[in-house]
Amino acid sequence: MDKPLLISQASLLAFLTCHRRFYLRYLERLPWPELLLKTSQRPSVERGQKFHQLLERFFLGLPVDPTAIRDTQLRAWWRRFQESELALPQGRRLPELRITVPAGPHFLIGRFDLVIVSTAQDHPFAHVYDWKTSRPRTHSELQQEWQTRLYLAMLAESGSALTGDEGPLDANQISLTYWYVDEPLEPRTITYSQEQHKQNWIEIQELVGEIELGLDQDQWPLTDNWSHCRTCAYQAYCGRQEAGASETLLAEDPRPYDFEPDYLLEPETP
Ligand code: SF4
Repeated sequence: MDKPLLISQASLLAFLTCHRRFYLRYLERLPWPELLLKTSQRPSVERGQKFHQLLERFFLGLPVDPTAIRDTQLRAWWRRFQESELALPQGRRLPELRITVPAGPHFLIGRFDLVIVSTAQDHPFAHVYDWKTSRPRTHSELQQEWQTRLYLAMLAESGSALTGDEGPLDANQISLTYWYVDEPLEPRTITYSQEQHKQNWIEIQELVGEIELGLDQDQWPLTDNWSHCRTCAYQAYCGRQEAGASETLLAEDPRPYDFEPDYLLEPETP
C-alpha cells in the first residue's frame, strides 16, 4: 500500500485489540454493522453528539438557549456544565480542533473538543478539554488510556504550530482535562512532561511501525483473545461465531460517542 494511512484513536485501538479487526475495518473498509449499537444505545449516542455540538456553539461564542433544548437529559447536562463553572484559562479557544501529525510514513489524526492556547509566565501553553457523557473513569485509568497518550503526544509534536509567535510549545506546558456530565464538579486534569513525551512518542512510533510491518507483509492475524470477538461485528468473517455475544460488554461500551465518522476511514491522503 503506497498511500499513507490516517491513524485515529479508534483505529489504533482496533489494531491493539485485534490486527484482523483493524484490517477489516480500516483497510478493507468493511462497514461496521449496527449490531453493536443496539436500539437502547442509540439515543445516548445521539444525545452525546448533540451535547458536543452545544459546547462547540458555546465556545464559538454563539448563543445557546437552554429553553430551546427539548431533550430534558440534554438540558440537564447543559445546566450541569454551566453550574460547574469549570475554571478555564484565558487564551485562544479552539473548539473541535482537528490535528494531523506525521508518524513514520503515516499520520496520526485527532479531533479535540476544545484546546485553549496562551502564554503564562513567558511560556506558551496548551490545555485540552474533553467532554464526556460516558461512565466516569478514574484519574489513573484515564492516564493509561490511549486517547490521553495520543492527544498529549500529538499536541507535543504539533503544538508549536498553534502557539506560533508565542514560541515553541514545551511538553511540560501541555495538560488535558476530562469533564464528565455525571461528575461535573470533579474534572480530571492530566499533566504532561518532556520525559513522559519522549517515552510515549517512542511507543506510539513503535505501534505505527507494527502497522507498517502488517502492511508490508499483508499479515493481519486474528486475536487469540476470544473475548474480544464477543463484541465484534466481524465474527462471521473470522468464523468466530462460537465466541457468542456478550450483553454485558455491549452495554458497557465506554465511549459510544466516539464512533468515528466515515471521513476518518483510512486510507486517505491528508
Ligand atoms: S471476530 Fe475476533 S478475530 Fe475477528 S476481527 Fe473481530 S476480534 Fe478479531
